[in-house]
Amino acid sequence: MLDFEFLKQSASVLADAAVKTTKDLTDKGKHKMDVLAAERHLAKTQRQLGALVYSLYKNGQTNDQLVKKYLQAVEQAEGQLEKITTEQAEESRDVRMEKICMRCGAEVSKDATFCSCCGQKFESADDTRGRVWNTEK
Ligand SMILES: [Zn+2]
Repeated sequence: MLDFEFLKQSASVLADAAVKTTKDLTDKGKHKMDVLAAERHLAKTQRQLGALVYSLYKNGQTNDQLVKKYLQAVEQAEGQLEKITTEQAEESRDVRMEKICMRCGAEVSKDATFCSCCGQKFESADDTRGRVWNTEK
């Protein structure tokens, strides 16, 4: 009975860990998919615009209204892609630089154990941002 309870708890802990890992992967994967989808969408609208312009040219026709519609679609797709890539660049910068050394005020990566500037050892989150201005040793 005790063993069974233990196994049940272990299984639940493992399941939680699995869910968390999957979620992390999904978030990262999702961003990549967003960029790929936006790139594909942009390429597709550009192709459509090119095909339209070419077929009009080939048939000696003009249809400014339709061309304008496709031009706007390309513009929109371009803006969407730019928005996604800008968001991602900002996100990865936030991840890279997340701590401020309480001793010298240098920005260090959130995984750093020592300050790359003054050599201060980070024991915990208390050694960084939050006590930067009121800690004197
Ligand atoms: Zn430092």
